[in-house]
Amino acid sequence: MRAFRAVGGTPRFMVSGTGPYLTDADGREYVDLVCSWGPMILGHSHPEVIAAVQDAVSRGTSFGTPGEGEVALAEEIVARIEPVEQVRLVSSGTEATMSAIRLARGFTGRAKVVKFAGCYHGHVDALLAAAGSGVATFGLPDTPGVTGATAGDTVVLPYNDLDAVRAAFAAHPGEIACVITEASPGNMGVVPPADGFNAGLKELCAADGALYISDEVMTGFRTSKAGWYGVDGVRPDLMTFGKVMGGGFPAAAFGGRGDVMAHLAPAGPVYQAGTLSGNPVATAAGLAQLRLLDDAAYAKIDAVSAELRSLVGDALTKEGVAHTVSAASNMFSVFFTDQPVRDYEDAKKQDVFRFTAFFHSMLEQGVYLPPSAFESWFVSTAHDDRAVERIAAALPAAARAASEATA
Ligand code: PLP
Repeated sequence: MRAFRAVGGTPRFMVSGTGPYLTDADGREYVDLVCSWGPMILGHSHPEVIAAVQDAVSRGTSFGTPGEGEVALAEEIVARIEPVEQVRLVSSGTEATMSAIRLARGFTGRAKVVKFAGCYHGHVDALLAAAGSGVATFGLPDTPGVTGATAGDTVVLPYNDLDAVRAAFAAHPGEIACVITEASPGNMGVVPPADGFNAGLKELCAADGALYISDEVMTGFRTSKAGWYGVDGVRPDLMTFGKVMGGGFPAAAFGGRGDVMAHLAPAGPVYQAGTLSGNPVATAAGLAQLRLLDDAAYAKIDAVSAELRSLVGDALTKEGVAHTVSAASNMFSVFFTDQPVRDYEDAKKQDVFRFTAFFHSMLEQGVYLPPSAFESWFVSTAHDDRAVERIAAALPAAARAASEATA
């Protein structure tokens, strides 16, 4: 993805970031709409986050013992997200989903995992089947290195299709350990859950004794103070987090029901550990970032997102480009089709070549979009009027380029 394989051209090597801007190795400045794929929700080099990191780092970088920072970060997560009764810190979103699935299997004594096509849960072997993000961008059917045995217990279903979930439970009664879903997917582009979809998943899981795992690595602490849970209120058994909670450092987590988490070692038998989990520098960055994310911060991000969505939509409409601006709270992306996008199959039907032309025009004009039509765009509290004006100024030419593009 970073290599620009999907869009072609030379990837930009960034050397610094301040607020909503990135500067590349050739000294060119870009308005950043990737925000490190989500984490930089306060913009780059936020002074209070940098100060917290400097303070932490001056006291040492890793102790391999319990520490105050990890407890404070865990408390912040538990305070914000009511279904999280207990939480375990890890170092990446991949580790969080991998561990949550192991725990679900250990807790239920079952093997099968249901996931949805186009959802990405990191590069966990068992979850790389029909995955989103880079796997979607490059159209990989599956990944060499993942054995049939590893993926054999993974059931992949179309997103937003409760009938398919019902049929899977009917076909494998008492065998499904968990259903894992992105709380609101952002890795096939932004495709929000249809009304009642997450609630239906929860109900079907509960009826069969399976766990409902909501992957909030991308949505967590972004789509609201309590992530997507704060938007739809559906109570998962387990949840996974990453990105925003690390403040630009490797920190992630999984947590949920206390009785399920009690099965984790050392209290329970399901093993999980990590040398750098709860790292003092990462937890200091994450904590500083979360503490700055108050209601006003989310109001600001929501407003910037709404403004950009309308600017992008207007520019594309003006040039007669078929498109759908798809949003889930402040996360959004543009599909180059006017047909509804409810799942990964729909997302793949868009005119990707138009996105490519749009992307390169924006890049040339100093706006850094995700280099893939299958990724969410991210904004931050630092995206001020000047940054929005620069984006607005670039849109007409980019919309024209999209309209003139040929397959
Ligand atoms: N889950 C979701 C929903 C994600 O978007 C990602 C990363 O993009 C992951 C898991 C994996 O996180 P990481 O890249 O930190 O391993």
